[in-house]
Amino acid sequence: MTAPSNLNIVPFVSVDHMMRLVLKVGIETFLTELAAVIEDDFRRWEQFDKTPRIASHSKEGVIELMPTSDGTLYGFKYVNGHPKNTKEGRQTVTAFGVLSDVGNGYPMLLSEMTILTALRTAAMSAVAAKHLARANAKTMAIIGNGAQSEFQALAFKAIVGISELRLYDIDPSATERCARNLAGKGFAIKSCSSSQEAVEGADIITTVTADKQYATILSDNMVGPGVHINAVGGDCPGKTELHKDILLRSDIFVEYPPQTRIEGEIQQLDADYPVKELWEVIAGKRGGRQSERTITLFDSVGFAIEDFSALRYVRSKLQETGLYIDLDLLADPDEPRDLYGMLLRCEAKLREA
Ligand code: NAD
Repeated sequence: MTAPSNLNIVPFVSVDHMMRLVLKVGIETFLTELAAVIEDDFRRWEQFDKTPRIASHSKEGVIELMPTSDGTLYGFKYVNGHPKNTKEGRQTVTAFGVLSDVGNGYPMLLSEMTILTALRTAAMSAVAAKHLARANAKTMAIIGNGAQSEFQALAFKAIVGISELRLYDIDPSATERCARNLAGKGFAIKSCSSSQEAVEGADIITTVTADKQYATILSDNMVGPGVHINAVGGDCPGKTELHKDILLRSDIFVEYPPQTRIEGEIQQLDADYPVKELWEVIAGKRGGRQSERTITLFDSVGFAIEDFSALRYVRSKLQETGLYIDLDLLADPDEPRDLYGMLLRCEAKLREA
């Protein structure tokens, strides 16, 4: 199957096709290639339209739209975050997204993005750690062993060289599942009974919990010199994971400050507290880690450009894999202005049938 030549047909990547695509490419190759596309797009950061995502909050969670454009392509993602969903058998985070041609405004891709979000979040985290963690980092603690956790582990293996994992979740069955899913994937895995135990000896600490409150997943005494913190779970107003004192001791790197100040760990700090933009490190405009003893913090919230990169990467794989279906999404009358006439012709056909 080739990519559709009919401009009115939109390729659609379903959950099933996304899984097949990841398995066909190989998940670690997928994460590594996706990380390279994210880095490419971060290097040309200044070309993009940027805005904090548009969030609709409720007591239970949030629904967000994440748009961006580089002037040639336009992308957006619809994503939710509902920590209580897992109790009802639903995902905390689900998503889908669109990539469009800026020239004519027509969508060029509609894709599931629940799996893709886990992949892009993990790839983004690993890119940040590649630039910020100590060069010889081998051990990572993962606190919060839910849907995102295995993806984080595999991205850090493929991109940073992590070979030892220390897992902790308040729900031991989550840790058990994560350890089971990652068995045989090249990690030495220790399941821990507290977050304190999990962080012992860790070069990198990933916090990826889901709870809609100002939580203290890490307290100040748990973070020693030289550690890199990959704080993923605090991504919404009123939803944080780190004690404020950790922030005050860390060199803080963020995606897009106007969004992270609303949603990230730094919502706990003054609005003008100095933070550094990760794209500048990736583009070589500023240094990353300053010393072996610096505590570096990637205050991840997830930014639209990462989703744009992910959609761009998936689209680049369609032709060679054929893993999509053609979607009849756009009306296509014989004469563009005869939209109503198209309806009449359909009516006539239905009468004949
Ligand atoms: P999930 O619900 O599948 O898993 C979360 C896990 O955290 C659960 O297993 C839960 O038991 C555990 N947990 C909750 N409180 C804890 C605590 N105090 N200590 C240890 N473990 C605890 O959710 P998920 O899909 O894995 O997402 C995790 C978080 O990451 C969510 O908050 C989500 O919003 C966020 N997220 C961020 C980004 C980003 O780009 N920064 C992207 C995707 C998801």
